[in-house]
Amino acid sequence: MSADPHCIFCKIVAGQIPAKKAYEDDELLVFHDIHPWAPVHVLVIPKAHIASHADVGPEQAPMLGRMLALAPQLMRELGVTNGFRTVINTGRDGGQEVQHLHMHVMGGPRPWAKG
Ligand code: 5GP
Ligand code: ZN
Repeated sequence: MSADPHCIFCKIVAGQIPAKKAYEDDELLVFHDIHPWAPVHVLVIPKAHIASHADVGPEQAPMLGRMLALAPQLMRELGVTNGFRTVINTGRDGGQEVQHLHMHVMGGPRPWAKG
């Protein structure tokens, strides 16, 4: 499925809900988390609707690789110089609140609000 009309992150991709964007290409969108846990906290998402990491198979491996490979560049561009943390919450027990695959990338000086 390429877009879910009820999905908040699909609405951000479509421009129906505003977000502070940090990066965009044909495949991926990065925007700042609305409730940041760290001084810098962005979410990396595929533009196509994939509900969670549990729905990913081998065909998505290149895309997942590009999500991970983007993180260092993003953190550099956002001024993070002392390390960062990447997190993907998956499903109910994984603490996933938004049902559109996303990777948190967090950095900046501690203490952080969470994590
Ligand atoms: P999860 O718990 O699913 O891994 O994380 C979802 C994240 O999405 C949370 O950190 C939450 O603050 C963020 N979030 C939820 N709704 C919005 C929104 O409308 N805009 C932005 N920028 N972030 C959102
Ligand atoms: Zn979606």
